[in-house]
Amino acid sequence: MSPFEYAPAPESAAVVDIASSYGLFIGGQFVPATGGTPFKTVNPATEEVLAEVSEASTDDVDAAVAAARTAYTRVWSRMSGADRGKYLFRIARILQERAREFAVLETLDNGKPIKESRDVDLPLAAAHFFYHAGWADKLDHASLGPNPRPVGVVGQIVPWNFPMLMLAWKVAPALACGNTVVLKPAETTPLTALLFAEVCQQADLPPGVVNIVTGAGATGQAIVDHPGIDKLAFTGSTAVGKMIARSIAGTRKRATLELGGKAANIIFDDAPIDQAVEGIVNGIFFNQGHVCCAGSRILVQENIAEDLDRRLKRRLATLRVGDPMDKNTDVGAINSRKQLDRIEEMVAIGEAEGAQRWDSGCELPTNGFWFRPTVFSGVSQTHRIAQEEIFGPVVSVLTFRTPAEAVAKANNTPYGLSAGVWTEKGSRILWMADQLRAGVVWANTFNKFDPTSPFGGYKESGYGREGGRHGLEAYVTTAGPLERASEAARSKGASK
Ligand code: NAD
Repeated sequence: MSPFEYAPAPESAAVVDIASSYGLFIGGQFVPATGGTPFKTVNPATEEVLAEVSEASTDDVDAAVAAARTAYTRVWSRMSGADRGKYLFRIARILQERAREFAVLETLDNGKPIKESRDVDLPLAAAHFFYHAGWADKLDHASLGPNPRPVGVVGQIVPWNFPMLMLAWKVAPALACGNTVVLKPAETTPLTALLFAEVCQQADLPPGVVNIVTGAGATGQAIVDHPGIDKLAFTGSTAVGKMIARSIAGTRKRATLELGGKAANIIFDDAPIDQAVEGIVNGIFFNQGHVCCAGSRILVQENIAEDLDRRLKRRLATLRVGDPMDKNTDVGAINSRKQLDRIEEMVAIGEAEGAQRWDSGCELPTNGFWFRPTVFSGVSQTHRIAQEEIFGPVVSVLTFRTPAEAVAKANNTPYGLSAGVWTEKGSRILWMADQLRAGVVWANTFNKFDPTSPFGGYKESGYGREGGRHGLEAYVTTAGPLERASEAARSKGASK
């Protein structure tokens, strides 16, 4: 029994103004949608409706692409890099100034703990704009090839797990390189993108440089199929990523795909064990495990497996699950009923496969969508819970004896986004990083992000990189004059 009573520390929702309904942001203004069926976005922690949001039809997507094309040809691609950089710096500063408002709105719409939206999502989103603002007038020095030029109009589709951060990862480099964008947020988390539209107005961004259309898969598909789109940037599931790759095959559209993951978090017997436990917690319970690069498979050296199991469970029992607006909360709400159903289905599969399920046993709120931090032990490589993404607060524990076995097991998934290595030996870290087929390998830490560092996957985790100098490559072309002339003719045709 605790010697003191728990005192919640709730963040106030009063800092945000949520409209009852939203239009689309096209050509620098909010406009009503034509034809689509409006849908509601709910707070997953309470199931309360937050707002009604428009569904963009193919006509609306057409209008957004046309606005982006006009802004591209008349203004944005002609502007000097230094001037584009000023707009990006301005947006970055506004994001910092309005960070509290954005963090609260993100938490209400997404269900993530306020301490994460406040301390991770928003600072990083602003950092991405600052970082790319700095590149805007230095593209000639970024080793991108001769005379780097923008690609044109970029279609960007983002998921619900880091709505504002994924927007920043996509919009900031696109704009820095001189492209204009049509962005679609996920259907369950559209509100921070719509608030970002206001930031674009506040920053006096030329109309049409950023267009935001809301809707679900059909709206996304309309962006993918639109002939006026020059490049697609997609973050989401591997299944939809494959559909997009098939849709654009044979067209001149370029694409970068940031897809799913099933990262191994590898703990050697010489690792600082308590730090490793914290790394596991951060790796899989951060953002309710709704993280593409989450450390969802623990690979622990066999001789310390029992000790780690005991320490991990003791730590998980202290995690506070509940109201995401409470500043003490560690694990918030699952983003949607659909995602909760998916987690429950995968957990039932894990039990049916014979793995041992343990959960922290904490109390859960009655309304909203929740799942207790859960550990599966006795997992083998063939189990579906060791191969498929669960995208929730559930971790599978496997064991290994030698570094070579750890590498073989870590690489034995269709994915290749990230991995963690916990050991005292620097030489082993370097050897493991070389052997692991993962775009990012963290050593004695996990889930650390920085705009200067490229992020992306191997295998079915997608292709292309976001962030760093490498992330700029997707947003420029170094085509020669002939190829550029034919691209210009095609763009002219597409904008008619
Ligand atoms: P999802 O693929 O269902 O949806 C992602 C986005 O694509 C949403 O905006 C959705 O409306 C849109 N969409 C759906 N169908 C579409 C279609 N046919 N054409 C075009 N757009 C379409 O994924 P989700 O459930 O929203 O997100 C979770 C997935 O995203 C997980 O698999 C996760 O690993 C992945 N993810 C990857 C990264 C990364 O950087 N690699 C980051 C975050 C999330």
